[in-house]
Amino acid sequence: MDAEGEMVTVQCAWCGTILREGGKTISHGICRDCAPELLERIRERLDSAGKPPAPDGPARDLKRASGD
Ligand SMILES: [Zn+2]
Repeated sequence: MDAEGEMVTVQCAWCGTILREGGKTISHGICRDCAPELLERIRERLDSAGKPPAPDGPARDLKRASGD
């Protein structure tokens, strides 16, 4: 059995640091140095994407116009 086939090299996708020496297969992960920055990026993305739409949209005006 090929032992190298079971060992996977884990490399930080951000800075390229080898997190775990392994075989030819390379898996990308995140190192301790980059993890806090990655979390910050995720938070920023969630903040910008999580903003609720404006409560007074065009749909509300249409509904009021047709019902009155
Ligand atoms: Zn890193």
